[in-house]
Amino acid sequence: MGIISKILGAVLTIGGGLTLAYGMDPNTGSLSFVLFIVGLVMMSMGFSLLTAGRKKKEVKTSLPTVTEIRCNGCDFKEIRDYEKGDYILKPLEANCPKCSGKMAIEGVYVVREEPEKDRF
Ligand SMILES: [Zn+2]
Repeated sequence: MGIISKILGAVLTIGGGLTLAYGMDPNTGSLSFVLFIVGLVMMSMGFSLLTAGRKKKEVKTSLPTVTEIRCNGCDFKEIRDYEKGDYILKPLEANCPKCSGKMAIEGVYVVREEPEKDRF
């Protein structure tokens, strides 16, 4: 979605620029004013599409949080997405997949997102 809207934005901006140039050409005649307006609208639409993705990225400030689960009976450890109500040393309903022992939350961490993930 992000890439498509960027391509569409670039196409609209370039197409709008060309239409605008056509409209400014005195040889175009009576249609020049219409082309000028259409070109302006296309360019502004293209620009808003190009900048829309950037704005969304800035808004996304909440960092992903993970919960580390540890088994009390063996050395089993698991990291899963944080769920509401998770806290350190909270006993869990689920049993250990290795030894069927009781498991508890060992830690809750905020994970810094890898910057490479957002690039393509
Ligand atoms: Zn275990």
